[in-house]
Amino acid sequence: MQQKRVVIVGGGFAGMSCARALIRDSAIHVTLIDKNNYSNFTPLLYQVATSAMYTESVATPLRHFFEGSANIDIKMAQVNAIDLQNKIVHTEDGESYQGDFIVLALGSIVNFFNTTGAEQYSFPLYNLVDAERLRSRIIAVFEDADRNRQLIEQGILNFVIVGAGPTGIEIAGAIADMLNIALPKEFSIQILNKACVHLVDHSSHVLAPFSKESQDYAAKILRERHVLLHLGLLVNEIAPDHVLLSNGDKINTRTVIWAGGLKAAALAENEKISRGHGDRINVLPDLSLEGFPNIYALGDIANIPGPGGEALPQLASVAKQSGYWAARNILAQINEKQPTPFRYVDKGIMAMIGKNAAIAEIGKQRRELKGFMSYLAWLGVHLTLLWTARQRIGTFLAWVWDFFAHAPVFQMLDRSDSARINWGKRINVKENKDVAK
Ligand SMILES: Cc1cc2nc3c(=O)[nH]c(=O)nc-3n(C[C@H](O)[C@H](O)[C@H](O)COP(=O)(O)OP(=O)(O)OC[C@H]3O[C@@H](n4cnc5c(N)ncnc54)[C@H](O)[C@@H]3O)c2cc1C
Repeated sequence: MQQKRVVIVGGGFAGMSCARALIRDSAIHVTLIDKNNYSNFTPLLYQVATSAMYTESVATPLRHFFEGSANIDIKMAQVNAIDLQNKIVHTEDGESYQGDFIVLALGSIVNFFNTTGAEQYSFPLYNLVDAERLRSRIIAVFEDADRNRQLIEQGILNFVIVGAGPTGIEIAGAIADMLNIALPKEFSIQILNKACVHLVDHSSHVLAPFSKESQDYAAKILRERHVLLHLGLLVNEIAPDHVLLSNGDKINTRTVIWAGGLKAAALAENEKISRGHGDRINVLPDLSLEGFPNIYALGDIANIPGPGGEALPQLASVAKQSGYWAARNILAQINEKQPTPFRYVDKGIMAMIGKNAAIAEIGKQRRELKGFMSYLAWLGVHLTLLWTARQRIGTFLAWVWDFFAHAPVFQMLDRSDSARINWGKRINVKENKDVAK
C-alpha cells in the first residue's frame, strides 16, 4: 500500500506532537518543515534570558527527535504560501511540498499593538534568539555600569517589562532574583542597589487569567522583591533610552522587555483561510478547516473552540494535545472513519513568580496552590513537559545548582549586537575612577 503523505508546517509543541504520533504508523510519511532546525521550549526561555539555564535545555535540534525514524523528512525552510485546494506548501526558496494532508502549526508572533518604538527598541521573548539577545543585554548593562558608574544616572540599570501576564511576571521575578540572590556575588552592592525592575500593565491587576487571590499573592511577592508595579497604565512610546507611560511618567532605561501580547503567525495572503480573534485560523471542532477536510490547523495559530464555544487559550498543553488529536483524526480519515471533535483535558494553569514562589490553579475547578509547594509543582510539571531525557537531566541539574549555589548557571554575553549600546557622547574615564568600588 502506498504511504499517505502528511506535510506539517511548524516544529513547535503542536507540530512535534502530531509528527510523533503519526510516524508510529508505517503507512504514513511525514515531512516536517520549520524555519529553524530546532524546537523551542518557550516556558523556560525566561530562565535562559536571566542566566539561570543552559541554551540546550530550551532548544533541541529537530533531527535529534526523529533519529532512526524512516518515515519522516525534516526540512529547514521558511514557508510563505499554502495552496489549500491542491494541498501544496511553498517555501521562500522556491521549493514546494505536496501532501494528502497538510497540518498548519506555525504558532504565534509578537504583537506590538503599533506601540511607537516597540519593534525597534524592545526585547521580545518568544524564541531562543530572543532569549540570548536579552541575556546579552542584561549582562552588558551590568558590565557597562561596573566600568562607568555615571551611566547609572542615565537609567542603565532600570529594567522595564511591558505586560504583567505570566511571561511578564516570570521575567520580572527572575530579574529580581538575579539582583537579590545571584549577582551580589559578582557585582558591588552599590551597583545593585541602583538597579530596579519596573512592570507595566494597562490592567489594574497582574496575571489576568488567574483568580483574584492568586493575582494579589503574585503582586505581594513581586513588591516584596522590590519590583515596582505600574498598573492601569499603558506604555505609549519606547525610545532607545527611555519609555513613556500614559500618565506622562518617563523611565530611563536601556532594557525594555516586551511581554505585551501575541498574534497568530503570519501566512502569505490566503483569502480562503477564515481568521478570527488575534488573526488566528478558525477551525472546526475536529481541528480541520471548513471546506478543507484534509487541512488541519493546531496550537497557537488556531482558534480552537472550547466546550462553551470560546477559543481555547494559547498554551503549550493545548498545542500538544491538539497535535496528538489531529494525528488521530488523520489516521481515522485514512482508515475511512469519521474524525472526532477535539476534547481538551484542562489540567490547569501555573506561573512562576520567583525563587520559592509560584502559583498553580489545578484542574477545571482551579484548585489554588501557592508558595513553595507550587514552586516545586511548577518545576516538576515543566521537567516532565521537556521533550528529551537529556534535557530533563540538564535542566534538573541546573535547577539544583541554582537552588543551592545561588549563582548564575550560564552567564554568557554571546550576542554582541544586542550588548552594544550607543551612549551618545564619550564618557570621561578619569572621572569614573573616582567613583570606582
Ligand atoms: C515566553 C513564553 C512562555 C510561555 N510559557 C508557557 C508555559 O509556561 N506554559 C504553557 O502552557 N504555555 C506557555 N507559553 C505558550 C506556549 O509556548 C505556546 O502556546 C506554544 O508554544 C504553542 O505551540 P505551537 O506549536 O502552536 O507553536 P510554537 O511552539 O510557537 O511553534 C511554531 C513553530 O513554527 C515555526 N514556524 C513559524 N512560522 C514558520 C514559517 N513561516 N515557516 C516555517 N516554520 C515556521 C516556528 O519556528 C516554530 O518552531 C509560553 C509562551 C511564551 C512566548
